[in-house]
Amino acid sequence: MEILSDVHWIEGVTANTYLILGDQTTLIDTGTPGKQENILNYLQNVLKGKPEDIKTIVLTHHHMDHTGSLYELKKITNAEVAAYKDDVDIISGEKPSSDPIYMRFVSRLMATFTSYKFIKPDIGLQENDMVDNYRVIHTPGHTPGSIALYNSDNGVIFVGDTLTYDGNKVGGLPSFLINDREALKKSVKKISDFNPRIMLSGHGKPLIEDTSEMIKDFYNTL
Ligand SMILES: [Zn+2]
Repeated sequence: MEILSDVHWIEGVTANTYLILGDQTTLIDTGTPGKQENILNYLQNVLKGKPEDIKTIVLTHHHMDHTGSLYELKKITNAEVAAYKDDVDIISGEKPSSDPIYMRFVSRLMATFTSYKFIKPDIGLQENDMVDNYRVIHTPGHTPGSIALYNSDNGVIFVGDTLTYDGNKVGGLPSFLINDREALKKSVKKISDFNPRIMLSGHGKPLIEDTSEMIKDFYNTL
């Protein structure tokens, strides 16, 4: 679905994924395992693009509903894969995550049942790095290496799982999915201080009206 002419939301891949059409095409997150065809079909059928148009794949954090189809998409597109520097070794499978033990158990189960293949990101991002016209904002809390991506020209912010929008109000994820509550609060404040115009999250719906007010309202509940 078109959010802006150069920002598209691909529905039906469990965790939302997005395509940015700039000087080059950038994919944000890759959905659960086996969703590569959904993403490439959208690119080819709706945008009339080619898989190799995707030059960069950015991961908002290491969770498998965001990295699930990464291996296949990297193989097909040969895009450079970027994630926050602290998440690189978790995404590659070299380092365990700091998720609660039951979350790691669920991830391992999902990996086994889907024949998930780990892959090492090419780029370890840092705060204020630029991906296309989007600034990398480190937003720990849901996971230590979570990031948001913000474009001050169009006011779009991709927030990964730090915030959600259910069509009614802005919220966060359930408390068992919060790695560090204090860090999360600071991250929400950081996002809120940009006064974004459009918030695109990993779960839920695009938020395109009263965005910064609704994020502030949520922050005040934390
Ligand atoms: Zn997550």
